[in-house]
Parts: sequence; C-alpha cells; structure tokens
Amino acid sequence: MRTVNAYAAKEAGASLEKFQYELPNIGNEEIDIKVHYCGICHSDLSMINNDWGMSQFPLVPGHEIVGEVAALGKDVKGLKLGDKVGMGWSSGACMHCNQCLDGKQHLCGSSEATIVGRHGGFADVVRGHWSWVIPLPKGLDMAKAGPLFCGGITVFNPIVLSGVKPTDKVGVIGVGGLGHMAIKFLKAWGCEVTAFSSNPNKKDEILKMGVHHVVDSTKPEALQSIVGSLDFILNTTNVTLDWNSFLTTLAPQGKLHTVGAVLEPMAIPAFSLIMGEKSVGGSPIGSIALTKKMLEFCVRHNIYPTVEEFKMTDVNKAMKHLEDGKARFRIVLKA
Ligand code: NAP
Ligand code: ZN
Repeated sequence: MRTVNAYAAKEAGASLEKFQYELPNIGNEEIDIKVHYCGICHSDLSMINNDWGMSQFPLVPGHEIVGEVAALGKDVKGLKLGDKVGMGWSSGACMHCNQCLDGKQHLCGSSEATIVGRHGGFADVVRGHWSWVIPLPKGLDMAKAGPLFCGGITVFNPIVLSGVKPTDKVGVIGVGGLGHMAIKFLKAWGCEVTAFSSNPNKKDEILKMGVHHVVDSTKPEALQSIVGSLDFILNTTNVTLDWNSFLTTLAPQGKLHTVGAVLEPMAIPAFSLIMGEKSVGGSPIGSIALTKKMLEFCVRHNIYPTVEEFKMTDVNKAMKHLEDGKARFRIVLKA
C-alpha cells in the first residue's frame, strides 16, 4: 500500500482540493513515478468540467508527467529505480491485441487513460503500466519536458501520419499549448507555417516562433487571401469555427486534421471535400515508439514547449490562468 498526496476535484467544475488516496500493492507490470513536474492540458480542464461526460469524481487531473521511477513490479521491462521517465494521456494498454502488436498501443480498445477512472499526476506519485512509462533521453530538460507527453505527441503524430513534407505549406489553428508545439515541430520540419489565432495580443510572440504568416482564425474574410494554398491544416482548438472557409484555404488533396476536441459536430460540406479531393481527419496522442522518436527529435533540434511554471500548491491559480486564456504557452506544475 502507498498513500498518495494529490489534488482532486470533488465534483464537476469544482476547485481542486488536497486529497489522499491509497494505491494497492504494486502489480508485477506496474511502475510508480515520483512526480517532479506535471503539465496542464486543456483536457484536464475539460475532464474537471465533465465536458465529455466521462469524468469520475473525485478526479485527480494531470497527464503530462515527468519524474523518476520510485517503485516497480517484478516483470517491468527496460526500466530501473531512479530512472527519469515521462507518462502522458495513456498509462496502460493490453499489449496483446492487434493494435498493440502492431505498435499502435494508443489505438488499443482497452487502453487506460491516466485520468479516466483512475488518478493522475497532480500528485506526489502516479502509477502506470511499464509500456507507457517512457525513459527520458539524456540531456532532456525535465522542467520543460512534461507537455511533450500529451500535447507534444498529439501534434507530432498527425505530421507523421499525414506525410507532411518539408516543402509543404501548412496551417495551425489555435496557438495554445498544443498549437505552439505544432508550430515548433512544423518549423523544424521545414514547412512554411501559417498560424491562425483569435488573439491579436499573441501576434508578436507567434511571429517570434518563426511562423511566416499570422491570420485571424475567427474572420472568414481574412482566409480569403490564402484560398487554395495550404497542404495541411492542424486544428488545435475545441471551439466551432467556420470549417468550410478553412477547407477553401486547402490546396487540392489537402487535409484538415483536428486534434482539438471540438465540442459541437463540425459542419463539413461534402462538395468542399469532393472538389479538390480534400480530406478531414483526426487522431489521439500517438504510439509509444513515435513518442520516443519525438523526444529524440526534440533533443536534436532543441525543441521545448514554452512553459510557465507554477508550484503544485498553486494549482487552482494555474487552472484559472489557463481558463482565462492567459497561458503562454503551456503551464507546468512543479511538485
Ligand atoms: P489551450 O492551451 O487552451 O489552447 C487552445 C487554443 O484554442 C487557445 O490558445 C486559443 O488560441 C484557441 N481558442 C480558444 N478559444 C477560442 C475561440 N473562442 N475562438 C478561436 N480560438 C480559440 O488548449 P490545449 O491544451 O492546446 O488543447 C487544445 C485542444 O486539444 C483541447 O480540446 C484538448 O482537449 C485537445 N487535446 C486533444 C488531444 C488528442 O489526443 N486529440 C490531446 C491533448 C489535447 P488563440 O488564442 O491563438 O486563438
Ligand atoms: Zn492532454
């Protein structure tokens, strides 16, 4: 048994309160991570607010975890006590279905999500299956690495999945936690990057990230000037925008891909896809192997999320900062 000191929402929309719970004896394939840092993803806020109807309370958020191995079961592979590790949205997969055997554990039908029906990383300790507890490459800065384990892999995966090329012109809708990491990856990929932002106050900071153009995401008339130009657009917002106008900015065979959990059905006129052979897609996080490759890519290109650090004890202040749209660009809690 292990007592965990955490922060939990007791009901939908509630502030986080100190909360203790007991973990049973560690399973043979499980790892306990001593949390050093945990990023705050918009999904934590959506889970606290029960936006997706699947939250269970008390709910301990937190799924952008970095720390060290504090305990491990006897059948854990590839890790030892004290190893520096990260864990994201997923903390378990069956490891024997076709998706798992094919290296797509993020698509496993019985995968376990770190904050769904179990407790996450706004805590001193969090438990996961060894497969999703990923060693940090040497030289990775732990204070900034947490957001790579959810936000980072979520935007890295569609770049690989959609076969984005260095010669492509691409767009990123929403420059928040996910969006700003997408911009950094796509810049390193070699693409011409257009950022679509609703917040004019962010423009200078976005340009400093090296994007080529900044366009207002909420003004369809602003999109008129780039009709037919983009090969790939990644949506990272969870709001309803004029999707048809974004489809018109795609070049023939272009793709609009959402990772943002848009809360309402997205209106996509069939003829906007048919004419020009365009497509629309979506994806959750990414595989374990791709997460490791992304970390290597980050070390090689010195890519880190731009973080604002709060103490874990100030978690409610940090949540409010995110909710108010003030995060620049990802908040990380220090345990
Ligand atoms: P975030 O930091 O809050 O960023 C979202 C951005 O969306 C904001 O910074 C803002 O960018 C834009 N936005 C917000 N309200 C808007 C509005 N009314 N009109 C236009 N734009 C608006 O959130 P995040 O952590 O990056 O997460 C983004 C989404 O991805 C969430 O829905 C989250 O649940 C989801 N998510 C999905 C996965 C997955 O596996 N698919 C993984 C992680 C997160 P501007 O200020 O630049 O407009
Ligand atoms: Zn997340």
